[in-house]
Amino acid sequence: MNDLSGILYIVATPIGNLKDITQRALDTFSQVDLIAAEDTRHSGLLLSHYGIKKPFFALHDHNEQEKAAVLVEKLKQGKHIALISDAGTPLISDPGFHLVRQCREAGIAVVPLPGACAAITALCASGIASDRFCFEGFLPAKSKARRDKLEKVAEEERTLIFYESTHRILDTLADMQEVLGEARYVVLARELTKTWETIVGDTVVNLRQWLSEDPNRTKGEMVLIVEGKTKQESEAEFSPLAIKALTLMAQELPLKKAAAIVAELYGYKKNALYQFGLENL
Ligand code: SAM
Repeated sequence: MNDLSGILYIVATPIGNLKDITQRALDTFSQVDLIAAEDTRHSGLLLSHYGIKKPFFALHDHNEQEKAAVLVEKLKQGKHIALISDAGTPLISDPGFHLVRQCREAGIAVVPLPGACAAITALCASGIASDRFCFEGFLPAKSKARRDKLEKVAEEERTLIFYESTHRILDTLADMQEVLGEARYVVLARELTKTWETIVGDTVVNLRQWLSEDPNRTKGEMVLIVEGKTKQESEAEFSPLAIKALTLMAQELPLKKAAAIVAELYGYKKNALYQFGLENL
């Protein structure tokens, strides 16, 4: 550790309600030489609300690696820097990872100041298991890639946390219904800490229906908390996707052949699938 170097502070800012700033964050802003931010105009307005005026340095996702090196040099020269993002905790679906990595490699002290984070705020009000969870950030924008990603987590028993946007929420829930099954329990936490804060939970099929009834229900910023695969589901014989594949293939092929292909694809016993097909299709 270089004693003459400055310190990089990772400072969480509010996700809506401006009162959710910490005293320590405000003290740190007053003490540092520079504030590294995603959108310097947006952050300038935020900090002016708290009466703080400081030089800013722009650090975006697309220029982070290169700009981080410049910040590391400033830190080596003894400057103290606070890293903030547009909202919430930096690095959580926001820039900062490369900067922190480079600082740690250069022996520069990194001091985190905890505060708001939409994922954790949503999780703790969801009523879904909070002892073990996986944060998945944003799902891909394109449906094929999104389904592939959902398939990778379909068997996960821990709670899943996703960030989602107003434009994609209905498509994402449609894909979740298809890949995770319509009975999967999901909580939507929207506009947290703001005037229109809404936290609703239901099966994915019911939630999708409820949201599609009124466009206002899909507005704003949102987090999806998805219950992990339950023991009941794990014990259910076949996944919803395997059943769908069997149904479609059995329309084109003899059931025995369809069952053999689906069994190979999804790792089931072909006789068990064939039997299921005889009884249910
Ligand atoms: N770093 C931030 C954090 O700590 O939560 C997240 C940044 S990410 C670019 C922005 C996403 O976080 C939004 O699209 C939304 O999914 C979620 N988010 C941020 N603020 C929110 C809020 N007030 N209510 C619900 N979700 C929010």
